[in-house]
Amino acid sequence: MEIYVARNPYGFVPFPLSVDRLPLTPANAGGHDRYRRDLFSGTFDCKLRTRTLFCIKALFDKPNSKDPAYIPGSTLRGAVRSVAQALGAGCAAFVELKDVEVPKKLQPCRDNNACLVCRVFGYAPKKAEQSWAGKVRFHSTLPIPVVWESPPSSPMPKPKPQRFLEEDPAQLAGWRVFRHAREIGLVGGQIWCVPKDQEFSFLVDFQNLDAEELAVLRFALSLRHQCATHNQHVQLCHKIGYAKASGLGSCQITVTEEPAAFLASTTRALPATGCKIETYFKLPGWAKLRELLDFEAAPQTLLRPGSWLQTHDNASIAEFETQHSATMTIP
Ligand SMILES: [Zn+2]
Ligand SMILES: [Zn+2]
Repeated sequence: MEIYVARNPYGFVPFPLSVDRLPLTPANAGGHDRYRRDLFSGTFDCKLRTRTLFCIKALFDKPNSKDPAYIPGSTLRGAVRSVAQALGAGCAAFVELKDVEVPKKLQPCRDNNACLVCRVFGYAPKKAEQSWAGKVRFHSTLPIPVVWESPPSSPMPKPKPQRFLEEDPAQLAGWRVFRHAREIGLVGGQIWCVPKDQEFSFLVDFQNLDAEELAVLRFALSLRHQCATHNQHVQLCHKIGYAKASGLGSCQITVTEEPAAFLASTTRALPATGCKIETYFKLPGWAKLRELLDFEAAPQTLLRPGSWLQTHDNASIAEFETQHSATMTIP
């Protein structure tokens, strides 16, 4: 088995060939004004544990040592939405894909036909009088006291690398996803972080989801799946916040087994939605997404190959990783 010790900070999860869209009509969207008995509504009680240093740069700017830390709901929502997209459940809405050819079938939903991710997380249809707010609401975490930490930094902020220059053109047909690392690398300029192994609590309300929407939301939130039907035990971690390429931002989210409040549906228990997720494990992106987000299998460090690739004509990121791994020793 090839062991990579130093790896490019991110990889590409292949796009699905297409994404299913359904008309978003008042009848099938469920609406926001009432809880439908044939759909699922409730609240997930969640815990987020930082597995590495964690930073939201704009929010954690020069905190006072007594300042508590919290994570805004919008940050959590964005992280979970992008996982649901990379899983293959959504179009390319709200994704930075500069210079990348988005397959026609994944163009952002703009009319009343909405993909699962847009139905659940919201979008702005072209002709609609107002945007669709989605069927899920992420609350901010409760504030917790922390001992603020700064990772080692280079004195000057790093120049922004020219995006995509360093990447394999052949690999561009996918979602960019950052991987985890065991070590924190240098960051550009001083930043303030929440230490690792801190635990935040937050709530996620969901309203009028069908079984598949609920399964995708639950998986994208917890990155955890275990079921009797097929032999997959999955437990991955998110990458959230600033300086992901330096190894920051690994977070594990756990979701209470039963929602704190499970409203109005005909069954009071969570439906057995488990294998609604199996369809997504069969898509072209799953193996790569799993590899990238596996915290236990993280490489030692993340290294940007930018300048190396410029001096090695026709070399690939894989060759860069192999060469740099060979010269490093695993402790
Ligand atoms: Zn969409
Ligand atoms: Zn399953």
